[in-house]
Amino acid sequence: MNTEPACEHVVAVALDVPSYAKMQSGTATLEVLFDYSVAAATTPGLRILVPFGKQTLIGIVACAGKSEAAPRELRDARAVLDDIAPLSPGWLDLMRFAASYYQRSLGEVAVPALPVLLRRPESYRLGEDGQATSRSMELLRKRVLRLAAESPTTHERAPALNDAQRLAAGEITTALAAGSFAPFLLHGVTGSGKTEVYMAAIADAIGRGQQVLVLVPEINLAPPLERLLRARFGQTSVAALHSGMSDGERAANWIFAHEGHALILVGTRMAALASLPKLGLIVVDEEHDPSFKQQEGLRYSARDLAVVRASLEKIAIVLGSATPSLESWQLARRERYRLLALPERAVATASLPVIECIPTRRMVLEHGFSPRAREAIATSLGRREQVLVFVNRRGYAPVLNCAACGWISDCPRCSAHAVFHKADGLLHCHHCGWQARPPRTCPECGNADLAPLGRGTQRVEESLAASFPDARIGRLDRDASLKRGSAKALLERFHGGDIDILVGTQMLAKGHDFKNLTLVVVLDADSALYSHDFRAPERLFSNLTQVAGRAGRADKPGVVLVQTDFADHPLFAALRRHDFAGFASQLMDERKQAQLPPFTYQAIVRAEARKLADALEFLSHARQIAAELALELPLTVYDAVPMTLFRKAGAERAQLLIESAMRPALQRALPTLFLKLREIKWRGSWHIEVDPLEI
Ligand code: ADP
Ligand code: ZN
Ligand code: ZN
Repeated sequence: MNTEPACEHVVAVALDVPSYAKMQSGTATLEVLFDYSVAAATTPGLRILVPFGKQTLIGIVACAGKSEAAPRELRDARAVLDDIAPLSPGWLDLMRFAASYYQRSLGEVAVPALPVLLRRPESYRLGEDGQATSRSMELLRKRVLRLAAESPTTHERAPALNDAQRLAAGEITTALAAGSFAPFLLHGVTGSGKTEVYMAAIADAIGRGQQVLVLVPEINLAPPLERLLRARFGQTSVAALHSGMSDGERAANWIFAHEGHALILVGTRMAALASLPKLGLIVVDEEHDPSFKQQEGLRYSARDLAVVRASLEKIAIVLGSATPSLESWQLARRERYRLLALPERAVATASLPVIECIPTRRMVLEHGFSPRAREAIATSLGRREQVLVFVNRRGYAPVLNCAACGWISDCPRCSAHAVFHKADGLLHCHHCGWQARPPRTCPECGNADLAPLGRGTQRVEESLAASFPDARIGRLDRDASLKRGSAKALLERFHGGDIDILVGTQMLAKGHDFKNLTLVVVLDADSALYSHDFRAPERLFSNLTQVAGRAGRADKPGVVLVQTDFADHPLFAALRRHDFAGFASQLMDERKQAQLPPFTYQAIVRAEARKLADALEFLSHARQIAAELALELPLTVYDAVPMTLFRKAGAERAQLLIESAMRPALQRALPTLFLKLREIKWRGSWHIEVDPLEI
């Protein structure tokens, strides 16, 4: 108990503790802060070491002031940490927005947005003078100094922009000069030179002394872009943030940007939440990419938050893509975003690749390849050009199968098949990590002849190796990329010409610029055409456009061969014409008729329990609550249903979809739903996801 007279200085602190929500005069609020007394006046945005129950936590001072009548029960903060500059009010506003939009408390969003090393209470020692010191922060300071001292690289000159690029860049720089919120959608075909438009805009912003945030969807895309930025803007400090860095590196880069030394920050979605006090421009490359959506914890969309950030900061933002998301496309059509178009490839000798469908229905494929595809591969190899083989389906990998009775290897903990990995001879579950030795004989019928079924990337690689023994073959998929740095090394070898054929999944499709690649072969494109996921065709079109876009980028023409059972499908017709706008308008009509996004806004309540019935029962209460809210708000509440992958890691899962044609109505309903759900006692867990990408 604190028997001293309470201190006159009080701070409200944001802490990362499970959603503490409350009702205030009938409306729910999730904005929950914790009050502490401090020895002297402090600034909002500083980190603070406070007692919480029996723990000590690091929080962020959200408000500071004098208390009228300091309540006795206020606990004293242990120390205010001023070893880094305070976070700006603008940054706190962004966190407040994210918290309220995604239904979290401020602390649950703001504290995890800091690098791990800046939120470890155990690294601080309290001195007798009440000062907190941290050895790891001292080491971090040295790292930041080293970043600052990195010698600038030489200047590389930008190519002269072509007309379309100049027009696009001009619009952006005009907006930068105006200094108001200006969202742009840069729609440029693959190889049209979107990067140079970004570069021109970046040059302009840093010329004004502003910071620039550049977001890429995937970690492998960060290093090449970082290299280019360093080469172009030699005198300017560039910082990076992605999951491929050590905690120390990440924290040092974060501080470097936070304190305004780095004018350019390149990173994956986590960088969208970084502190950038002089931010003047945001670039989101490959804005359509689903990787911008975080799939756990705070399920935020880095692209969407970037747009909000630009509007809060009143700055320009450029969303770039060859296949924009329908959400962004719709906003551009409604002139909420300014559309900038790059309709042609930038390099005069490069043209868009020729896309050809190979009808595979009723064709006998040899290890998955049609004769036409084999021939084409042989021809390319003969010309010493590179080949990419793209296996579309995610998780499409060989399961173990009994030809006698049809038994298939399943994961015992998930409603999913287990996949046979040749490297270790084990069955793996890609959803929960389960591994086991495969049975010697079929568990159903005793047949001793179990064989892998399906074409995983491994089997495609083997089959290519058998057909083209002299070719150097590389494989890039999830397993390969789990090993740190191996994906990067592989891509570098392909860039450098040390690999002739690269086999891989989605990851290949993104942004890489391979100069000697002339042939792309696409296997297994069809599953997405008839998927239960309404976004599957949009993704397939985008993936195929992107992967096709890897071919023929320099002076050699590119060819893309798509093996499909449905060569007449309108998606392929649009793909062959490189007609994103046509395809998008067709999809948009379908979405409008079915009242799907972007014509409606969605939130999902997901529940997970030992038994599916329990999850469904919990959701029936949720449905009831939502139905009551729907009496007053324009909401559509669906039935609770089991998730497609309804069993995962031994838990059973179901979901409830809530929609509204008006985003604010949905946003009004969610806090009340959240609070009422918290009152339900049951044995399971649940969360709400706003704007889910997978339903
Ligand atoms: P995108 O990102 O739109 O797919 P990139 O930015 O990768 O395209 O550019 C494709 C290629 O065109 C790159 O090799 C790039 O160096 C080149 N390029 C871009 N703009 C120009 C230009 N104005 N003049 C000459 N080459 C250019
Ligand atoms: Zn069997
Ligand atoms: Zn599993």
